[in-house]
Amino acid sequence: MTARPRVLLIGLDGFSPDLAEQWIAEGRLPHLAALQARGYLGALAGVVPPVTYPAWTTCVTGVNPGRHGIPDFTVPLSHRPGIRFLNSSDRQAPALWNILSELERRVCILGVPASYPPEAVNGIMISGFDSPVADRIDPSFVYPPELYKSVSDWPFSLFQEHRISEVWYEEAFTLLEKKIAIHEEIACRLLSQEAWDLFMVVLTEADTASHHFWPLEDEHSPRHNPDITAPHNPIRRIYERLDEAVGRLCDLFGEAGLVLVVSDHGFGGAGTTSLHLNNFLAEQGWLSYEGNLPAGLKQALLRWVPQRFRGALFRRFQRLAENVESRARFQGIQWTKTRAWSDELDYCPAVRLNVMGREPRGVIPPEAYSESVAELCALLETLPEVKKAIARNDIYHGEHVDRAADIFLELDWSTGYRASVVRKRGGEVAEALPVSAWKGGKEQGCAGVHKNPAFLASNLPLCREDPGLIDVAPTVLSWLGVDSGDMEGRPFTASAGVAEEMRGESWIKGAETKYTEEEEALLEQRMKALGYFE
Ligand SMILES: [Zn+2]
Repeated sequence: MTARPRVLLIGLDGFSPDLAEQWIAEGRLPHLAALQARGYLGALAGVVPPVTYPAWTTCVTGVNPGRHGIPDFTVPLSHRPGIRFLNSSDRQAPALWNILSELERRVCILGVPASYPPEAVNGIMISGFDSPVADRIDPSFVYPPELYKSVSDWPFSLFQEHRISEVWYEEAFTLLEKKIAIHEEIACRLLSQEAWDLFMVVLTEADTASHHFWPLEDEHSPRHNPDITAPHNPIRRIYERLDEAVGRLCDLFGEAGLVLVVSDHGFGGAGTTSLHLNNFLAEQGWLSYEGNLPAGLKQALLRWVPQRFRGALFRRFQRLAENVESRARFQGIQWTKTRAWSDELDYCPAVRLNVMGREPRGVIPPEAYSESVAELCALLETLPEVKKAIARNDIYHGEHVDRAADIFLELDWSTGYRASVVRKRGGEVAEALPVSAWKGGKEQGCAGVHKNPAFLASNLPLCREDPGLIDVAPTVLSWLGVDSGDMEGRPFTASAGVAEEMRGESWIKGAETKYTEEEEALLEQRMKALGYFE
């Protein structure tokens, strides 16, 4: 090969292999079908649990979340019950762009989740939807800053918190199409600009569409309402539009080089049962509620403030609004009598143990940790909504495992749909969601939920079976002729046949930068709009 090896890595957040295969069979995704004909298209083993931040971070570092230290959007605080948002400066392992920049390869990295603040790469970096950019004159999400003027249109989230109604569906769909078009335009312009060694862009619209539109697309969904007919086939149309974007990027990239299209997880539909994990833990004697259950500070706080004023309220009364999500998660729990609790996040059903010396008011002695995890896993598996309780230490290893929850729950999909994890203090463990709640939204879970496996398409055949997200970074490096060092994954395509260049050991993690309270409040709002937080 005479040309320098290059890689085009297109990320499609939440793009599901089963949906893609179905629509390819119907001839609806011609550009992905072309990749399939040349190389591979199908499942990619995901990260457990299938959560956006850890999955993309594993994709770009080639190590498990216990080593890269980004297990979720947030981590618990150690000094008091509360959470903080993680950002790229919390990442403890070098990403592809760090390694390649050090070797003076040229990189262009656009929209990867968990990449804010942007890093000083040898090229260009636009951070992901985690950029706390509130207005249009804030260049903090771009490196180098001089580039800001030409990419200032890059959208993060075009719609506000979802108030799901038929009108909302239509508006949201139009905005998603618009967002793909702007991202595609900017990505194509930057891709044409030079022969990048690595060009990576992540488009997140399949994820947002699947969270909100699942029952419109899937008429077998127990949440399907035959009276709501528009937008018609919204998820399929977003897939078709993303396929077009893939086609355009592939054309601009050219024939030579490695093209990978990957997702961080797939998707499935939510059923109509809501599961209240903390009520289960209370019933089983692992958690104790405070005597007088608060009426719901968050609800109270938000109910009297009209949606359009909430952003202003957050900025104006930072202290009052500080960690509204945090309070909602932690309020009402009597910590001195609680051995385990759940954040009750629908996108990441999990349980944490209240360990002495690790949690602010821990009660379980560290020596009883393993035994407690095993006992609680067995107990959680008695819930009909739970298929499997997975001890974190069985699947993660590394210095930063404690940032993650202690037990992950794989929910039961035997009916084709799973229960929604919904936050509640007191009352039933599981209940039927009222019909009015089927479309999803506040306190009702999302209509579509993450599911493994993730998706992979490649313009080259794979040289081994069972590719995984953890193998993507080693595959990219191997193609570029760069040693993948102590990454855990292994390449799944052949290399370009160039001599390997050793990686320097000089990656020095930058200083950690914490979000301000205002930025955290803004991120909470965005997480709600995207379908993550209640
Ligand atoms: Zn995702």
